[in-house]
Amino acid sequence: MSKAHRGVGMKEFANKGRGTCPLCKRTGIKAVYEQDFDGKKVAICKQCKAAAGNGKMKEAIAAL
Ligand SMILES: [Zn+2]
Repeated sequence: MSKAHRGVGMKEFANKGRGTCPLCKRTGIKAVYEQDFDGKKVAICKQCKAAAGNGKMKEAIAAL
């Protein structure tokens, strides 16, 4: 439980969770936060998860 996206827990992710976020297209960032878009599970970055939760990033989500 807890802190699944920090510290030792990051070892379980490929490249320690770093990669390209499919929403903001930034590279080399932590994209491990799973979000469900129309039944499609996508690992996105923290900022995009917060934005999606606030009803933003609609164009990027639609383009997935
Ligand atoms: Zn992002």
